[in-house]
Amino acid sequence: MVTFDEDLCKGCGLCASACPKKIVSLSKTRMNAKGFHPAEVSDNGLCISCGFCAIICPDIVIRVEK
Ligand code: SF4
Ligand code: SF4
Repeated sequence: MVTFDEDLCKGCGLCASACPKKIVSLSKTRMNAKGFHPAEVSDNGLCISCGFCAIICPDIVIRVEK
């Protein structure tokens, strides 16, 4: 599963493009403390813990746990 340190996210979308399961996207409704739409996961049950999203994130927002 993945968790986000949401207020560090700058909404660049790199994590969403890197996810092979297509379960990461930018929130369309919520904003974080920086005023960006933060990344979120739609279904942690589909996550295969590959870590691609965390590796590509330039701001170390994402934590992957098995
Ligand atoms: S760990 Fe892999 S499958 Fe899970 S959300 Fe990140 S990129 Fe997607
Ligand atoms: S790659 Fe990091 S900073 Fe960019 S949208 Fe994803 S979590 Fe946010």
